[in-house]
Amino acid sequence: MPELPEVETIVRDLRPRLRGDRVIAVRLGHPGVIRHPDPIGFATGLQEARLGRLRRRGKFMLLGVDGPALPGGSALVIHLGMSGTLCLTGAGEPDPRHLHLGLRLQSGGELRFVDPRRFGRLLLGTPGELERSGRIPRLGREPLGPDFTAEWWCATLGRSRRSLKAVLLDQAVVAGCGNIYADEACFLARVRPQRRAHRCRLAERRALHRALPIVLRAAIAGRGSSIASYRDGFGARGEAHEALFVYGRAGLPCVRCGGRLRRSVVAGRTTVFCPGCQR
Ligand SMILES: [Zn+2]
Repeated sequence: MPELPEVETIVRDLRPRLRGDRVIAVRLGHPGVIRHPDPIGFATGLQEARLGRLRRRGKFMLLGVDGPALPGGSALVIHLGMSGTLCLTGAGEPDPRHLHLGLRLQSGGELRFVDPRRFGRLLLGTPGELERSGRIPRLGREPLGPDFTAEWWCATLGRSRRSLKAVLLDQAVVAGCGNIYADEACFLARVRPQRRAHRCRLAERRALHRALPIVLRAAIAGRGSSIASYRDGFGARGEAHEALFVYGRAGLPCVRCGGRLRRSVVAGRTTVFCPGCQR
């Protein structure tokens, strides 16, 4: 599943290319991926719309759209789910399978949302109203943002009886971290993902606070992890998965101590850690 670094890579790729362009035709695939409004209202709203700024919030992408049928401040909200991709293709390229949204643009290209497993979702509306109505969730702090402070993080962990992994995966606490980077951050911080958050020493909580932005920034620099179907904004694979310490490496030697990495299930998710150097 694409996490913060993958979504951020797509946003950075597409942001300068979309802004100011205009939608000249809307093509829809499976209606199930359109969560709000109904498919006709969705397509009508995007017709002739002028594209604004593309930004990321957690694992969501929000593309500003301004059109005759839309209230001010509207956005096309995109969540890639398990297997979704969003990319800009040139004019006349053949349709891929599982194409669920195609926005033909005045500049000649097409913005395409493709999703074989259809866990992704698309919404159109003002972000505030979509959040108030519960159509998109209230998200927690951005781990690369200014309010992700050590004081807040340490206090948050201190109040939680859940596992570190469960807290890291909770989008209402910290937005954008998923299974890959939760394991990577715990490895870097030398704490086991199954540890109860409130039982961790302050130094361990601080280490995890330092580790999370490091692993996320490294993965952005590597243009995201193409574990499964992830592709960047131009349809190319990322390289960040080649530099992962623990995710997907159960049974292989730890890069730090040489011991064997162990697999376990924590917070309902497959989790990999080093029993030798994570306490
Ligand atoms: Zn180790």
